[in-house]
Amino acid sequence: MKVIETFSPQETLEAGKQTGAQAAAGQVYCLNGDLGVGKTVFTQGFAAGLGIKEPVNSPTFTIVQEYEEGRLPLYHFDVYRIGDIEEMDEIGYEDYFFGQGVCLIEWAALIEELIPENAIRITIEKNLEKGFDYRKITIEGAAE
Ligand code: ADP
Ligand code: MG
Repeated sequence: MKVIETFSPQETLEAGKQTGAQAAAGQVYCLNGDLGVGKTVFTQGFAAGLGIKEPVNSPTFTIVQEYEEGRLPLYHFDVYRIGDIEEMDEIGYEDYFFGQGVCLIEWAALIEELIPENAIRITIEKNLEKGFDYRKITIEGAAE
């Protein structure tokens, strides 16, 4: 387990960048944490670490957004608005999860039953006692 403490969005971006730079084909990264905690900021860094230059935002109307321009394909999921787990079947999630790209899933806890056992788990938490911009990023799994 690896814990990274950040005190600004830029530091979280950097943590994401370092994680993305080390990502390998076939990995699934689960991102959990409350709304506004910094999952998308981390993802933006992660994408940059893979060499993706186009802007990355949370997909609002689609569950998954694909980025092909980096060192590896990135499949960015945000399952916050998922109504039914069936929607994952409909988009053919297995091709992404068990493919040759890298998956990063915001709100992965909402689809826990589909998450592969060897997934890398990243949790971001606030602690207001340590300041409004403080975040604790815990990484468990192969990316440690
Ligand atoms: P989520 O995707 O988890 O809902 P976002 O990444 O969209 O959250 O938003 C995180 C918000 O928190 C941004 O407005 C960002 O500027 C702010 N923020 C403040 N401090 C930090 C920090 N240390 N790390 C990441 N984001 C931070
Ligand atoms: Mg988000």
